[in-house]
Amino acid sequence: MQKLAENAEFVALTPGARVETARHGWRAKCLQRLIRLELPVPKTVALPAQSVRAIASGQGIDTVAMAGEFGANMLVSVRPSPENPAWGGPGTVLNVGMNDEMHAILSNTHGTETADALYLRFVQGYALHVARLDPDMFQQETGPGALEAALDAYEEETDSRFPQAPAQQLAEVLRSMARAWEGTTARLLRQAKGAPPDAVLGLVVQDMALGIGPGLSGSGTIQFVDSVTGAQEIRGRFRDQSQGRSSSIEALYLTRDQRGASLEEADPSVFADLKRFGAACRVKLREEMQLEFTVESGQVHVIDAVRVQRSARAAVKIAVALAEDDVISRADALLRVEPRAITELLHYQIDPRAPRDVLARGIAASPGAATGKVVFTAAAAQASAARDEPCILIRRETSPEDIRGMHAAVAVLTERGGMTSHAAVIARGLGLPCIVGCSEIEINARERQFRGPKGRIFREGDVVTLDGTNGEVLVGTAEMLAPALDDGFRTLLHWADLVRDIGIRANADTPDDARTAMMFEADGIGLCRTEHMFFDEDRLTVMREMIFADSPEDRRAALERLLPMQRADFLSLFELMKGQPVCIRLFDPPLHEFLPHDREGMRELAEALDRPLSEVVRRTEALSEFNPMLGMRGVRLGITVPEIYDMQARAIFEATVEAKMRGAEIIPEIMIPLVSASREVEIVKTRIDSVAATVRNETKTRFTYKLGVMVETPRAALRAGEIAEHAAFLSFGTNDLTQMTYGLSRDDAGRFMSTYVNQQVYFEDPFHILDVEGVGELLLMGAARARGARPDITISVCGEHGGNPESIAFCRAAGFDYVSCSPFRVPVARLAAAHFAL
Ligand code: PEP
Ligand code: MG
Repeated sequence: MQKLAENAEFVALTPGARVETARHGWRAKCLQRLIRLELPVPKTVALPAQSVRAIASGQGIDTVAMAGEFGANMLVSVRPSPENPAWGGPGTVLNVGMNDEMHAILSNTHGTETADALYLRFVQGYALHVARLDPDMFQQETGPGALEAALDAYEEETDSRFPQAPAQQLAEVLRSMARAWEGTTARLLRQAKGAPPDAVLGLVVQDMALGIGPGLSGSGTIQFVDSVTGAQEIRGRFRDQSQGRSSSIEALYLTRDQRGASLEEADPSVFADLKRFGAACRVKLREEMQLEFTVESGQVHVIDAVRVQRSARAAVKIAVALAEDDVISRADALLRVEPRAITELLHYQIDPRAPRDVLARGIAASPGAATGKVVFTAAAAQASAARDEPCILIRRETSPEDIRGMHAAVAVLTERGGMTSHAAVIARGLGLPCIVGCSEIEINARERQFRGPKGRIFREGDVVTLDGTNGEVLVGTAEMLAPALDDGFRTLLHWADLVRDIGIRANADTPDDARTAMMFEADGIGLCRTEHMFFDEDRLTVMREMIFADSPEDRRAALERLLPMQRADFLSLFELMKGQPVCIRLFDPPLHEFLPHDREGMRELAEALDRPLSEVVRRTEALSEFNPMLGMRGVRLGITVPEIYDMQARAIFEATVEAKMRGAEIIPEIMIPLVSASREVEIVKTRIDSVAATVRNETKTRFTYKLGVMVETPRAALRAGEIAEHAAFLSFGTNDLTQMTYGLSRDDAGRFMSTYVNQQVYFEDPFHILDVEGVGELLLMGAARARGARPDITISVCGEHGGNPESIAFCRAAGFDYVSCSPFRVPVARLAAAHFAL
């Protein structure tokens, strides 16, 4: 270790030198590793953070000793070396040491033109970034007299000659870089990238490898995988007669392709060396690296190496390939892929390299991107789909009536709503990109148009693109990347399944959802919201007949017609899930959700039911409630109108018998929603047991089933001990439980959620990330009380939180058996669960 000044020291990079990332930064550490691998790295010296700090605080430093390391006629580069490459740092300065004497030497060896160009660029860079002079004075283009003009300008501005002593130049460069790191803008920038407030900078001084001269000379970068796909292909470029990022004379591509001459052909041995270096890095640094290199008269120097930048799909492919080649362990491969990032692989995604014309922003409610023509009604969406024209459904908010329109659309945008509003939940289930709570737009459905910020008007048929991954609405089309459910993805998730210790089921309501759940290899269905089965045209009418029935007989008659449809639904779910558990929730929403909301719809309904319009209007009004989410829904409906649950139970059991006859042994799980008292469970259980007994008798078939309770009200959590006596499992419906714990409407919270989060009233949107302090406390209390009463009870979460990594960590720590989430969130959940178990 050499002394620079009182507190300043530096270390020459050798295989045995003591270099630490925390002190010298990642770049110094990485270069030392390259040296250990015997890669041809030019002589390099590293300044630790402590020295850089001393320099920034104005302590004079003696750079003579350091310059001595590089011998007479030194020419060096200075690069930043923070602890983490993501934190950036001041720009690299090349050719420090360039002075009249070096100019003369280089004029002899490389010609005056080259010497002039190098000197000029150094003077310009130094004037701007080190001496901080007016850029206008130093804009000379290379050419006769330009160098002299720059030197004169320097002298005029500073009243002194351009510094000639390399040690002085070096001292000034180090000082300016050290100070740049301390600047407020730089600090804010790196903190935005996750750097701690006290992040420090190391600096790396390296002998310049010139990249110019006789024979093959130049500079370039090379990597051995594609950054977007992760495929093992050589990427990069080489610039003949150039230094790093500097302007180039001629570009050569690395490998031969339609673009013309290649480095591979120009110098096969240089190319072979680079491939060898890349392979060594991959094995020894256990990572795909991008090498920055210079060639001087056919001699390769590796001047830097960074981890290859990568998309999520490339990250998966690279991690799996490294593990399959035994370079890293499977556990490492799992940990190298950020769970949230793999959402990108499941959906179309806007090419990150493509330009974006952002029109408005809202809450990113369901990931993926899609382009389509704007429509404002479900009917228009269906008409558009019938014409094979992709459309984007834009609504103030959605209701069950819009479901068919959502099915027909390629993406959904709503002006209102939050993470668990109707549009958000349905879109996530369908895997549709969705943005909600986009208050920057104003919809005028009657005029079939919406107004964006700055008064821009968009009419039906105009094309927009939705990026549900980051909540941006873009004008027009955008370049897309296709989903990548490839072998690498599957392999990684299988490895995840081997280590995770919490089950991941899917919320699946329809056969399509069940197929998606199977494609993403969920451990079964944790929540089938049966009411979603009633929105198809034919069923909706029967459903409405049931609602409007005048007598129990009429109601039974309508339910008789629904029975075979439900039986077929359940049978297909059982068959699709191939013996995996299927948990079916009995009917939950308030009945009025199935009734039309406008006059036109009521007229159609009156016609379909052959009843006077006035009666339809009156009955609909009679069903409306002041607070439907807290009204006659869930088990309350099940107790008041028990025929609905009877029909559903029968459909489930008959489907179980049918599945058994076809060779699939099923133990259906039946779940009661919105329970708040144990007596509710007792009453429903008695009826369901009796339906089971009837079906067993009728079919002469034995089967069992499990009855469970959804804990969605605070009271159910508090009374979980008592409730558990009647339940084989409890599933926390954290959407309703959050709504009721906060007294916060899940459909209206979007309006003020961002204000609340910005002002840190809430740490996060509690509908998005489980509120572990409040709602979480109810979960823990409920689970403990339930287990106290019934130690073998199965406990899970089936609200939207089930797909959120932080919430999964909480459920796992609490010893829950599984979480259940939208099918498209299953892969992220599987990987996140594995991360927590490692
Ligand atoms: C819940 O409330 O968490 C739940 C899963 O049910 P839903 O979202 O259908 O109300
Ligand atoms: Mg609920």
